[in-house]
Amino acid sequence: MTVVLYPGSFDPIHNGHVEIVETAARLFDRVIVAAVRNPQKGEPLFSLEDRQDLIHESLGHLDNGEVTMFSSLVVGLARDVGAHFIVKGLRAVSDFESELQMAQMNKRISVVDALLIKTTSSYSFLASRLIREIARFGGPIDSMVPACVSTRLGERYGNE
Ligand code: ADP
Repeated sequence: MTVVLYPGSFDPIHNGHVEIVETAARLFDRVIVAAVRNPQKGEPLFSLEDRQDLIHESLGHLDNGEVTMFSSLVVGLARDVGAHFIVKGLRAVSDFESELQMAQMNKRISVVDALLIKTTSSYSFLASRLIREIARFGGPIDSMVPACVSTRLGERYGNE
């Protein structure tokens, strides 16, 4: 049974993230998506609990995808859940540079390897930060996020 861990801020989860989980779920037996508290990204829009709920709802169509949350080192969580690989998504070359460095650092401090999965071109421009900006001003986000996320963003910014 091969277990992979997909960590990220997911503030909120969007269709690019969902696609990476779907790909990993086809390739591996168990995919654990972990919402992380990332102090480098400043104050989050959604609490960790809310992000976990939205991930859970967005992955309802997958029977081997599950979600957790954490605020420790990714490699520590990977060890605790018995993950064979850490999965990360690649949008562009810029992601590759930072993900490669992170993967090499994680390998230095643990035994877990990273797998980088590329996104399709139709999702490569998606980023939670941009989606939050568009939603804040009432712009159209329905094609970029799962329906539950669109609803929660509308409620949060009073755009329903
Ligand atoms: P964001 O940059 O959207 O805030 P996260 O920090 O939550 O995303 O990213 C978690 C993981 O998902 C990272 O590995 C990131 O490279 C990947 N990811 C983010 N957006 C996309 C996308 N549009 N397509 C594929 N992977 C993505």
